[in-house]
Amino acid sequence: MELIDGRKIAGEIKAEIAEQVKKLIDATDRPPHLAAILVGNDPASETYVANKEKACKEVGFDSSVYRLDDAISEKELLDTVEFINNDPDIDGFIVQLPLPKHINEQNIIKAINPKKDVDGFHPENMGRMTLGLPAYVSATPNGIIEMIRRSGIETDGKHCVVVGRSNIVGRPVSILLSRTTTPGNATVTVCHSRTRNLKEITSMADILIVAIGKPEFITADMVKQGAVVIDVGIHRFVSTQSASGFRLVGDVKFDEVSAKASKITPVPGGVGPMTIVSLLINTLKAATKEVYA
Ligand code: NDP
Repeated sequence: MELIDGRKIAGEIKAEIAEQVKKLIDATDRPPHLAAILVGNDPASETYVANKEKACKEVGFDSSVYRLDDAISEKELLDTVEFINNDPDIDGFIVQLPLPKHINEQNIIKAINPKKDVDGFHPENMGRMTLGLPAYVSATPNGIIEMIRRSGIETDGKHCVVVGRSNIVGRPVSILLSRTTTPGNATVTVCHSRTRNLKEITSMADILIVAIGKPEFITADMVKQGAVVIDVGIHRFVSTQSASGFRLVGDVKFDEVSAKASKITPVPGGVGPMTIVSLLINTLKAATKEVYA
């Protein structure tokens, strides 16, 4: 079994981005600028945004955070989105999800200028991605594809089973793997909570991608000997056994599945670091006008 080291791959990509940032500054006098809108003070969202700021700093990007009270109205949030849409100094921005219940997330996502939509959630970018046109592909699916590419995992003609069909992970990754690209050209099966005989289907996968949000759900008896296993799930549990006071697990029961897999991503250190680095890739593309010329 070989570990797919997401931290190492992400580190290599960050070094490449940092080099490109230097060239960009020489040419344009300013680095790429990623902004984030953070509504309320949900601790998980605070952590995600702080990690994104840290990653920006590491590669030489500018970053800024618009912190808004969770009582903000939808109209006020839309005004902030419009303000950033029109700010020429910001190349790309994200609205950290989830938003408070009284705000319609889709209305906010639709208001983002697709050219600055580095999270790739706008219908225009989802549509472009589906059609194989230049697009900002959302961070986690993009990170998974990049990880597959850089790990030399062959997808052409392989049976890829994606467990989970969310708009941010399962569905886009299934579309990307079925496209006529490399990586791609896989035969893709998408499973979800209504799938019957899940174990029979996952056991046929050459490449198994798991994004269901259930800790250690995929066990060894659900995996084919020699399969590649990519675990997107992330769950935090209090633990007296670790110095940090908690432990992280994925959607896959790592100890037993790793004994059967040919390659597998760990949690932490697998898909997570690739997600953040993908946002940096998209922001660099926004600054260099690579997607929307
Ligand atoms: P969602 O909850 O949006 O989607 C979960 C999907 O899993 C749904 O399609 C659901 O089916 C399906 N599902 C749930 N239970 C079962 C089951 N018993 N059998 C088969 N399918 C099932 O989750 P996300 O896609 O947003 O996230 C999935 C996991 O990935 C979470 O643990 C999340 O924290 C993690 N994550 C990690 C990221 C990273 O950077 N590492 C980034 C994003 C997410 P249905 O559609 O029928 O409800």
